[in-house]
Amino acid sequence: MRLGQFESETTDGTWGGLIDGEEVVHLHAAADAAGIALPRDLRSITAEWEWREKVELAATYARETGVGLYDPADLTRREPITDPQKVICVGLNYRDHADEGGFDAPDEPVLFSKFPQSLIGPDETIEWDPALTSEVDYEGELVVVMGDRARNVDESEALEYVAGYTIGNDVSARDLQMADEQWVRGKSLDTFGPIGPHVVTPEEVDDSGDLDIWTEVNGERLQESNTRQLIFDLAELVAFCSRAFTLEPGDLIYTGTPDGVGYFRDPRVLLDDGDAVTVGIEGIGELHNTCRHA
Ligand code: ZN
Repeated sequence: MRLGQFESETTDGTWGGLIDGEEVVHLHAAADAAGIALPRDLRSITAEWEWREKVELAATYARETGVGLYDPADLTRREPITDPQKVICVGLNYRDHADEGGFDAPDEPVLFSKFPQSLIGPDETIEWDPALTSEVDYEGELVVVMGDRARNVDESEALEYVAGYTIGNDVSARDLQMADEQWVRGKSLDTFGPIGPHVVTPEEVDDSGDLDIWTEVNGERLQESNTRQLIFDLAELVAFCSRAFTLEPGDLIYTGTPDGVGYFRDPRVLLDDGDAVTVGIEGIGELHNTCRHA
């Protein structure tokens, strides 16, 4: 399944949808007509008991009756998850990225956090005040979206708790990140958490440990790697996090960025007003955003 969040002129607010071929199913509307209860937003949907089955039932009903079916051309795509309880990030999790920064590969995952408020969706604008930061950088990343509450789960079953995968850009104000003792400010500026365009459920991904990942700025490819380069794979990360704290439905894990970030390039590449940034992951899609001085 490919799931996302959408808005339109004829519907109220932001709602969770299933991309079904050429159409999008408004899950709350279709489920309601079918006599099934599904909340409006995707995070709340993934918190429902047996949500995967309910989504399938709503989609089947929509296909048979036409209720809740929309043409994507009439919709605006929004970030696929709104207001997650946690946005967890993993530092130095690609061998090639640790090497470029001159760091040793860590023995255990290094976690930090972005405020959920920083999230924006596909095609939205990454904005910053140039008086606050003059060193804004991109980090293309695979993002895990949690689907079931996970506490102290074993690595062998960790991926069963995952709703799916999406794409993230861990936008970073390097000057603030380096000036502070820890990274939350430099990583959490408003709009510095683009995600999307969709959440792709695990059964649609052949092997999450072998996916090409790339980042382009104004069409120039600056990051190009593969999730084979991950030091800690997705199951290890979910299990590791769940030993420390409970993972809730909709929680996001930005799993780290490969080499080629602008800050470590020679000459250095920094994002500027008007730049277009695209992060792509094989089998998941492409996340496109533009940059603007606020
Ligand atoms: Zn990152």
